[in-house]
Amino acid sequence: MSARLQNKVTLITGAGSGIGLEASILFAQEGAHVALVDVNNQAVQNTHKLIAERFPNIKSIPIQADVSKEENVKRMVQETVDAFGRLDVMFNNAGIMHPEDDNALNTEERIWDLTMSINVKGVWWGCKYAILAMRNNPVDESKGLRTGGSIINTASFVAILGAATPQLAYTASKGAVLAMTRELAMVHAREGIRINSICPGPLKTPLLMDFLNTQEKKDRRLVHLPMGRFGEAIEVARGALFLASDDSSYVTGTDFKVDGGLSSCYVTPL
Ligand code: NAD
Repeated sequence: MSARLQNKVTLITGAGSGIGLEASILFAQEGAHVALVDVNNQAVQNTHKLIAERFPNIKSIPIQADVSKEENVKRMVQETVDAFGRLDVMFNNAGIMHPEDDNALNTEERIWDLTMSINVKGVWWGCKYAILAMRNNPVDESKGLRTGGSIINTASFVAILGAATPQLAYTASKGAVLAMTRELAMVHAREGIRINSICPGPLKTPLLMDFLNTQEKKDRRLVHLPMGRFGEAIEVARGALFLASDDSSYVTGTDFKVDGGLSSCYVTPL
């Protein structure tokens, strides 16, 4: 165990599946205390049980919360601070891509509003209550600096690249995450709070695989992927670990891409 997050208090949203599940396991493996949050109670309980079995010395707490509701987000941060005494890392990772999300002509307003409330407002609330909690972290006397914290917001490659396979509300929501993150990073830089986005490429997780529910839909994307494959959730979790740990102590306001080269691609290899 290399313990890159030894004794850090971390909160991960969307901890019941995909990137959030892998990040929860990885953060625990690296010595962090983990507050596990998901709207799906069964899923978050499963993650909690898995961590308790695999890492008996690690403290984790399962919390059911809907990140689109301010009171829920306030409560989940409070429960984390009550349990562990502080908050060092906030991974605002929960998000949805609705199957009825489409182009400008076909997307219904209710799909737009639902997507925005989880993917954008949820990240806003997460940042707000994480910043308030991190402001209480003590000054590191050895460095004369505030210990602050690290906030990671999950955006997406679709915030950077246009796609002719539309999901307009989702794309717009992830663009908002990138823009919001940059500005928050600047506003809070002198408080020692680092705030970064992580931009996953297309991954083999339920979120995308449920959306690409035929081989034809998968093949339509695979031809554009430089590495010829979808990414794995653990590969994004490793990027989040870097941003969470002190290894990234001089990294803030960045759009950290874990996309297999997709956003640098003109023509893919044969
Ligand atoms: P996933 O569907 O496997 O997991 C998402 C988790 O978030 C689920 O457990 C779900 O219950 C939870 N969740 C959904 N709404 C919530 C809410 N309102 N409050 C709390 N929890 C909620 O998805 P994933 O692929 O792991 O995606 C995680 C993040 O990565 C999302 O923000 C997604 O947009 C982003 N992303 C995914 C891909 C991909 O290809 N899978 C690509 C780019 C970005």
